[in-house]
Amino acid sequence: MFNYSIIQSVAENPSERKLGDRAVDAFARILNLRDRRLVFIQENSTGEISSERPLLGLSNSNGRDIFVLKGLACRAMVLTIAHELAHESQRVRIKKLGRKA
Ligand SMILES: [Zn+2]
Repeated sequence: MFNYSIIQSVAENPSERKLGDRAVDAFARILNLRDRRLVFIQENSTGEISSERPLLGLSNSNGRDIFVLKGLACRAMVLTIAHELAHESQRVRIKKLGRKA
């Protein structure tokens, strides 16, 4: 099992936060998602997020947060953000289909 904890904003890397927020804004706009929030995580054996496989990112089915591993190379971080927001977009579309049915 792999465990991760959420990084408090004081412990974040400011340039990573800046690029990450820009990427979230850009992809969220393209995908028509509102108010998505980027949360950085790090591996931590007592962390509150667990996964059977190592994570680069994770999206939350009942919230606005997407979780991205801290310390990725810029390109990997941006691609991970795009990937997680694509999951979110898919969930939103599935929900809308459910309402029409
Ligand atoms: Zn995925």
